[in-house]
Amino acid sequence: MGLFSTDCEYCGGSGADETCNGCGLAVHYDCAREKGHLQVKQESGGLLSSGTTYYRWNCPNCGRVKEGQA
Ligand SMILES: [Zn+2]
Ligand SMILES: [Zn+2]
Repeated sequence: MGLFSTDCEYCGGSGADETCNGCGLAVHYDCAREKGHLQVKQESGGLLSSGTTYYRWNCPNCGRVKEGQA
């Protein structure tokens, strides 16, 4: 595994969606969610908006938590 590899840690595929700030580990959102390391929280929006989706990912390598909006 290279330092700046963009291969997903879970499935080994390329084109990872997310990279850890701590150790550089790269993952797909879908793979992380399957493993239970990624939690997604959908906030209900207003009448016209679809709301915001927040995600929280626990890096399986260094344990760092990354949060953001999807
Ligand atoms: Zn993957
Ligand atoms: Zn990490």
